[in-house]
Amino acid sequence: MNADEIDAVWAAHESTVSAVEVEQVVSDAAEDEVVCRVCAERFGQITDQHLQTHGMSLSEYQLEHTDAPIYPSDPDRRPGREPGFSHSEETKLKIGEKVRQSRNRGVDE
Ligand SMILES: [Zn+2]
Repeated sequence: MNADEIDAVWAAHESTVSAVEVEQVVSDAAEDEVVCRVCAERFGQITDQHLQTHGMSLSEYQLEHTDAPIYPSDPDRRPGREPGFSHSEETKLKIGEKVRQSRNRGVDE
């Protein structure tokens, strides 16, 4: 492969993945997937090994695509989504009963 052919491959590669296409893939991707902004492929996470195929390192990728996540946003791991974070239905009933009892005590007699 000579230099002109390599240029042609790169030109074809760049024209096949436009920013609009990347946006489309990003919006289609599942919550546990991240999209490589260079080739618009979906991954479990962006790795140094994959970015080497584009001739860049992870830090170069992050510099160029500052808003592109490296890891998927996993809503189950966000604080506040832990099971048992809020009161259970049973606890809510017990609290409600205590509030009623204390009110009744104040009103009765
Ligand atoms: Zn890629």
